[in-house]
Amino acid sequence: MKAVVYDGPREVSVQDVPDARIERPTDVLVQITSTNICGSDLHMYEGRTDFETGRWFGHENLGRVIEVGDGVDKVQEGEYVVLPFNVACGHCKNCERGLTNYCLTAQPKAEWAGAAYGFADMGPWAGGQADLLRVPWGDFNCLRLGEDAEEKQSDYVMLADIFPTGYHATEMADVKPGDQTVIYGAGPVGCMAAYSAILKGASRVMVVDRHPDRLRLVEEIGAIPIDDSKVDPVEAVNEMTMGLGADNGCECVGYQAHDVEGHEHPNMTLNRLVQSVRFTGTIGVVGVYVPQDPGASDELAKQGEVAFDYGQFWFRGQTMGSGQAPVKKYNRRLRDLVAAGKATPSWIVSHELSLDEAPNAYEHFDNRDDGWTKVILHPAGAAA
Ligand code: NAD
Ligand code: ZN
Repeated sequence: MKAVVYDGPREVSVQDVPDARIERPTDVLVQITSTNICGSDLHMYEGRTDFETGRWFGHENLGRVIEVGDGVDKVQEGEYVVLPFNVACGHCKNCERGLTNYCLTAQPKAEWAGAAYGFADMGPWAGGQADLLRVPWGDFNCLRLGEDAEEKQSDYVMLADIFPTGYHATEMADVKPGDQTVIYGAGPVGCMAAYSAILKGASRVMVVDRHPDRLRLVEEIGAIPIDDSKVDPVEAVNEMTMGLGADNGCECVGYQAHDVEGHEHPNMTLNRLVQSVRFTGTIGVVGVYVPQDPGASDELAKQGEVAFDYGQFWFRGQTMGSGQAPVKKYNRRLRDLVAAGKATPSWIVSHELSLDEAPNAYEHFDNRDDGWTKVILHPAGAAA
């Protein structure tokens, strides 16, 4: 089968790799029809993680089931399924509590938790930017789709990661009807956090970024764009909230947060959030931060440490949630919103390309080139 293989920093190629296959009775084999490139792939693509060369990416996957193992009860051949990016067993202590983002079985390192397809430090699982994907614990991990699956797959594929992740940011931030919410980052995840806040009935959603195409997108759904290359975003938010700050905020950028000149400051969005959110407000951080970042320019960041303004955070009595999103906690409900026509997360998609076009797509998406807001890849074998 073909797959998007990582060859080293900023280099990927589409290569023949061994076919994914059923390895255990509980596996499901999926022929991928839609697989997204994610901002998380870019941390790996840029060589800013220890993702091994020769492995392949792809954790936002949707496709048709072509084979099931003998131990699979529910999922059937021919069905369309979307897979949470978290690989989870369903029976460990964390999975039982709904924390599939920190599965203890799917992560082989005893002292760690959490797993994903085609992801640095998240277990051995192969990615889905390929013709075929092996889904372990298939009954637990597959979310089955209805008859509209093929037609609406550009919406449903967002259930693998960014829609539930954006939603999770608003859950951690405790966004409620009527709230004023600020979001840092208008990438796909920030867009989905803004969309989720609006779906929940926030009265005002403010989104900070500096890319005009991304800011235009959030404006389309009724959020207020704040261009931090033109204004101080903290002042802008405070002005719009009578000097009090937003009720809550979401971090959707991560450790490669940078200033408008491109210099990285991993503490930038965290500290700006603390200052843009009111006393006793709540913050949800879904942007990725890493325990070590050898590629960082300063010593603190190399150790995975961030100069966080804890004094200000404490003084303001704020609360903060963080970590990978537990996709399974939300994907079924969000699927039903899509099925009912009440959510159309594909609104952020700018490009639908073949798998062969992945190297070019990675380059553009990594540059945050104008108009490259979200890419869906369709492997050749797909019945697109
Ligand atoms: P992206 O890189 O396309 O988007 C990030 C956006 O942040 C860009 O538009 C960039 O211009 C903007 N940005 C950079 N510095 C900024 C600053 N100082 N202030 C405001 N905006 C700034 O990526 P994405 O796909 O939207 O993902 C965003 C983050 O979410 C990444 O770190 C990704 O790894 C992470 N993520 C986490 C989860 C999870 O489960 N927690 C899931 C998916 C993605
Ligand atoms: Zn992702």
